Formats: sequence, structure tokens, C-alpha cells
Amino acid sequence: MARAKQPKQIHQLTVPQFEAMFPDEEACCAYLVGKRWPKGVHCPRCGATEPTELKGNPWHWQCYECAPQTSYRFSHITGTIFENTNKPLRDWFKVIHLILTSKKGMSARQLWRYMGFGSLKTAWYMAHRVRAALADKEVDKLGGIVEVDETFVGGKAKNRHDRWGGGGTGGVGSGKAVVAGAVRRKGNVVARVIENVRAVTLERFVNEAVSHKVSLLITDQWVGYKHLNKEFPQHVTIDHARGDYVVGAIHTNTIEGFWSIFKRGVIGTFHNVSKKYLPLYVAEFQFRCNNRENVDIFGTAISGC
Ligand SMILES: [Zn+2]
Repeated sequence: MARAKQPKQIHQLTVPQFEAMFPDEEACCAYLVGKRWPKGVHCPRCGATEPTELKGNPWHWQCYECAPQTSYRFSHITGTIFENTNKPLRDWFKVIHLILTSKKGMSARQLWRYMGFGSLKTAWYMAHRVRAALADKEVDKLGGIVEVDETFVGGKAKNRHDRWGGGGTGGVGSGKAVVAGAVRRKGNVVARVIENVRAVTLERFVNEAVSHKVSLLITDQWVGYKHLNKEFPQHVTIDHARGDYVVGAIHTNTIEGFWSIFKRGVIGTFHNVSKKYLPLYVAEFQFRCNNRENVDIFGTAISGC
């Protein structure tokens, strides 16, 4: 008899779990120190171990390695996104928790109301710093079966012509931003704002995101992908123009699923975002997607702060 289906492991903290983990500011400080320095506190400037604890000033240390005379003083938040703000860590943690648990993201306005901050600007600023922290510092190139596609975001409706007609190539002058994405089936997504959908730009993206050891590289028949075969003999295309959307394993439904969540977030939650901040939203959606089964998604997020 087949085994009973196991309930899916919960990877996001519930509010009661959050409250139990972080009852006060002290608990947040201790958690941050543990995530930041799992092998014990290090000087953020020179990396020296075992700095001296500053007496009477909890969560502060001084390092004599990089400043033997005067000592260099630092705290648990030195060099993190939490530095130079007057918000307690517990507020930051709540904001991060809210962002991570909202599938389509949370607008600054929502955060502002929910957190009861004095100004919208505070919420906006905090959310953007969190997004920057969620951005992957380094990306492992994708292998296995990989789908590549790109999508347009924003811009004036009259300029939003299809790339197949009207000669629309996005980028300069069109008012649209282009986001390129590559996803490994059942694996990670790499998404990035790019200049346009010309071949040279798309090829550069694919080379940065996809391993040459990929077993199958799937795109649609956009001319910009036409010459990928030179570097990726595993490249195959799906003919959307002919109405083909799935031919066996050859489809781009996975990346299109990611675009769908991303666009519902950008259009629905954020009511379109300026090109300037688009990379931050891309980073946020990429992080949530790539950590969708991470049982310590909150800890991973804090480690990047
Ligand atoms: Zn030092």
C-alpha cells in the first residue's frame, strides 16, 4: 500500500512562531549575531576573531587587530542594512517576515499601515534595503533542463507592441523595461533587467546564467535566440507563433509561471515600478522563488542582510 502523503514541510514562520522566536529586541540581536557570525564574532573590518566585548555596552565589541592604539569599535549591526536606522531590529525582522511571506510582495504603503510607522518613506526605505539584501551575491550557473524567456514591464500602453510585430525590441525609447529569466526545471531561477531583446544582449545573459553543461536549453523562436545553438548545441525552440506551447518536455511554462507571479506582483501590488527600482523587485521575486522549499528562508534572508 502506498505511503500516506506527507504534509508539506512548513518553511515560513507563522506569526505565533515569529513571536515565540523573537519576543524582544534582545532575542533579535542574539539571532542576528548567530546568523552573521556562526563561528563566533569577527571584526567586520579586518576579520579578526575574538574581539573584546565592550563593557556596559551590550552587542558592542572592539578590535585591537586593525587599530592597536585606539581600537576599532563595532556592533552587531555594523556593516548590515540595519545600520544607521533608528528602527529596532524587531521592526526590521517583522518587515522581512512580511516580505518573505507575501507571494506577490508587499507594497511600502501596506507595510507602512501594517507596521504603524510614522511615515511612508520609512517603510519604502526599509523595504528597498531588504530587497537589496535579498539579491544573490553570486549565482550558480543553471544546469539540467533550462528554460529561457524574457518579458516586458511597464511603459506606455501605446508603445507596448508585441516584439513579433511592430519591430519592438524594448529598451531605449519604448518606455518598457525588459527582464530576462532562466529557470532550471524544479530548480532555481536567474532573472535580471536587461537593456533590450537583441541577440547580443540575450546571448550575454544566457552565457552568464546558464552552464554550458546544460542538458536542454529551451526558448521560443524569437530571432534573438536564433544563434544560441553555436554555443549551446542543446538549444531547442518551441514555436509559439504556430500555436505550439508544449511538445513533450519542450516548453517554457516554468519561466512563464514565474513571470506570471512577478507581473501580478509588479502590476497588482506595486502598481508598476520605475525602471530604476525594477532590479530590486526582480531580486525579491527571485529570492522567494529560489527559497520556496528552504526550511530556513528567514535565516537565509537575515544572513544576507
Ligand atoms: Zn579589526
